[in-house]
Amino acid sequence: LLGAEGSLAGTIFEEMTGLAAAHGAVNLGQGFPDEDGPVQILNAARHAIAEGANQYAPGRGLPVLREAIAAHQARFYGLTVDPAEQVLVTTGATEAIAAALLAFAGPGDEVLTFEPFYDSYGAVIELTGARHVTVPLREPDFLPDEDELAAAVTDRTRVILVNNPHNPTGSVFGAALLARVVEEAARHDAIIVTDEVYEHLVFDGGRHVPVATLPGAAERTLTISSAGKTFSVTGWKVGWLTGPADLVAGVRTVKQFLTYSSGSPLQGAVALGLGLGDDVYAGFAAALQRRRDLLIDGLRGAGFDVTVPAGTYFVVADATPLLTGDVTDGAELCRRLPGTAGVAAIPLSAFCRPGSATDAASARLIRFAFCKREDVLAEAVRRLQAFG
Ligand code: PMP
Ligand code: GLN
Repeated sequence: LLGAEGSLAGTIFEEMTGLAAAHGAVNLGQGFPDEDGPVQILNAARHAIAEGANQYAPGRGLPVLREAIAAHQARFYGLTVDPAEQVLVTTGATEAIAAALLAFAGPGDEVLTFEPFYDSYGAVIELTGARHVTVPLREPDFLPDEDELAAAVTDRTRVILVNNPHNPTGSVFGAALLARVVEEAARHDAIIVTDEVYEHLVFDGGRHVPVATLPGAAERTLTISSAGKTFSVTGWKVGWLTGPADLVAGVRTVKQFLTYSSGSPLQGAVALGLGLGDDVYAGFAAALQRRRDLLIDGLRGAGFDVTVPAGTYFVVADATPLLTGDVTDGAELCRRLPGTAGVAAIPLSAFCRPGSATDAASARLIRFAFCKREDVLAEAVRRLQAFG
């Protein structure tokens, strides 16, 4: 695989974060916050290390974390999952996605995602040997056409991989659309794997609807989330997956040979985080919404046309005003922007299959992350306005 191109080439996040560092640019590329999460959970991790929680955790995850995950699903969504058999702690959502796809998809199968899609999806589907089928998310709201969705699901579809709220577009799928996904999955007996890492980052009073809460969904749905985004600890790489016991057992089989178990001192701290009050969850979403609005105002002031995201860390902007001379698309612009404007962003093409219709349709689009301090966002805006 060395020297691989396409899905298995180097990740865009490393490339753009590297360029940002090399040029001293404000990094609105890779989505990670520049402030750490709640001090209680940081202290809990410190204590766990000091008190000797430094050897292997059980493969399924520490009981205290599995119980906290089950309690979280009940508290926020009314879902009942058995912490013993229906919860698996993983090394970030990334491992949960990989282990789920490796468990259930292989050569001859199809895995369906929407497009653009989070970059690890394409790479992992390729590793499984399954065929990657995509349904475009259409501007202006970056939602799929339900008929296109229905046409793309076939009896070969083994897994429908949903990401809601959606990276990179920031769109949030509503209950009716998700119900259509469930209906198609049931018709063709497909599993739904749903990546809900931005579940608590929904704005303007909107509500996150987990796929598993819809009628007929729970028995075929694996739900994935992660502490990284909810608690601003992206470097901890503590994620999890919940679902029917037989499906979770399949994923556990793969996980035990990927990583065996996940970071023990962090698990109790994440359990504590999951139990924090509603005010903490709501406060973080509200702070992020203010940052979203600050960046959107600034981008508009710099001449960008932007789509207001309903959730996530990300805003998509139309870079047309900055496309001049030999800078003809978002990918080339993002390669130059750290040097020319002192700001890093990610082209939407990084989330598309090279040469696909969605790739062509989104060639002029770039993604900015707003999970940054307000002064950092203001500086990025100042630089973009001066550049544009
Ligand atoms: N899925 C999506 C949609 C993401 O944006 C990210 C990045 N946080 C991940 C998965 C990976 O999550 P983790 O860092 O927990 O592996
Ligand atoms: N999820 C983050 C993003 O989309 C970063 C992921 C990564 O660096 N692999 O920007």
